[in-house]
Amino acid sequence: MSGNSSHLALKEAARLLNGRMDQLTAQRSRIVHRLQSIVNAVITQNSFRRLMQSRAPVALAKFGFCHSSIPSQLTVPSKVSVYYDDETVFGIQAEPSDNKIPVDIRLVSYGAKPVALHYGPADLLGPYAGWAQSQSLVSMLSPFDGLPVAFAEREGLGDEIGQRPAKGPGGYRGLIVASSESQAMLAWLSLLFGWHHLLGRLLNVPSCCCTKNRNCLWACRSDEGIGLDSLAFPPSGIFDWHYNVFGGHLGYQLLCHFPCSFDCRESLAAALWHLSHLRNHDPSYAELLPATLRSVVVMAGRCVCLLPGASVRAAGEDGFRIDYMPEKVRSNSFSSSFANVIRKSSVMMWRGDELFVANNCLFGCSCWIFTGGSGSADEKTFSRVSSVPKKRRREFLGFFPRIE
Ligand SMILES: [Zn+2]
Repeated sequence: MSGNSSHLALKEAARLLNGRMDQLTAQRSRIVHRLQSIVNAVITQNSFRRLMQSRAPVALAKFGFCHSSIPSQLTVPSKVSVYYDDETVFGIQAEPSDNKIPVDIRLVSYGAKPVALHYGPADLLGPYAGWAQSQSLVSMLSPFDGLPVAFAEREGLGDEIGQRPAKGPGGYRGLIVASSESQAMLAWLSLLFGWHHLLGRLLNVPSCCCTKNRNCLWACRSDEGIGLDSLAFPPSGIFDWHYNVFGGHLGYQLLCHFPCSFDCRESLAAALWHLSHLRNHDPSYAELLPATLRSVVVMAGRCVCLLPGASVRAAGEDGFRIDYMPEKVRSNSFSSSFANVIRKSSVMMWRGDELFVANNCLFGCSCWIFTGGSGSADEKTFSRVSSVPKKRRREFLGFFPRIE
């Protein structure tokens, strides 16, 4: 290429880049203007508030929102605190890194779902937002900084910490990624006004899961904490591997919400829908999923361990022996003494909510066996699991010396 033609190519690239930046700036000011208009109407116009509470689709249509997911009635608070500056609403986008983009966000670009909501520290979300922009998707940050209310209660922080208005690009935020401006704004408004059912619909979360499990929306997080109310966890037992939502904490995810139960048919349909899109767009990831998610999952306190390829057999009264490969154990925390104990052994005994590993006895644990679909050979092997007596759930009580 001659010096003159390379100069022309550079000029053309700069022109295209400037054009894209202009488009992005125009889109952002349009979004902020629409958000301000609707929030002002909600706070200041009694007639509009009444219309929202009786005919929400009509009220929102006045602001250009026409979406089949909008329920007939939406409640609105009388006051909200919110900041509209560019950095607070959109954050600081960063160059997409080599880190794998979380599957909930990728599924939006594959056309499998209209909106994704991914929680994490804002600096970790920047490259995901950059990637979303490179895919011509719309991204925004949640209007609140901090843990969602359900987490805050669990962690004893109180509501005021769970829902403080975000100011600036940082903090612990939710990244909204949507295929259109309107869907991104509806998700943002849903977070601001607490429209959890509308948010659930935008995120393709089945209504049974939205109703029965208030933690269902927060399964997508990019940090170590589990942050789910322990009462929301289903009891130990045997389940189809498509329900293994715990893989999401360790980089292998299929479901983008926490199901109301590990036999929720709507959630299974969502998992199969996601799998068909992943097979088309990311076949190598889709191929790894069954082997990783078909695993035994044990949880103690906040530590979750996946034991891929583990084998389970009945042993003694109500008990089960789990043989696993310690080098394949994946955990959400490397500093956990629970994970360390498991990695130092290759066999454990499970009974009710008790685990016996080497010389340790652990009380208050959960154990879920995710395996092949119903009717498989595994089903027969594990058929006794359902006969485990249901005891009152105990919090993880820690390690005790094993008494033979
Ligand atoms: Zn459900």
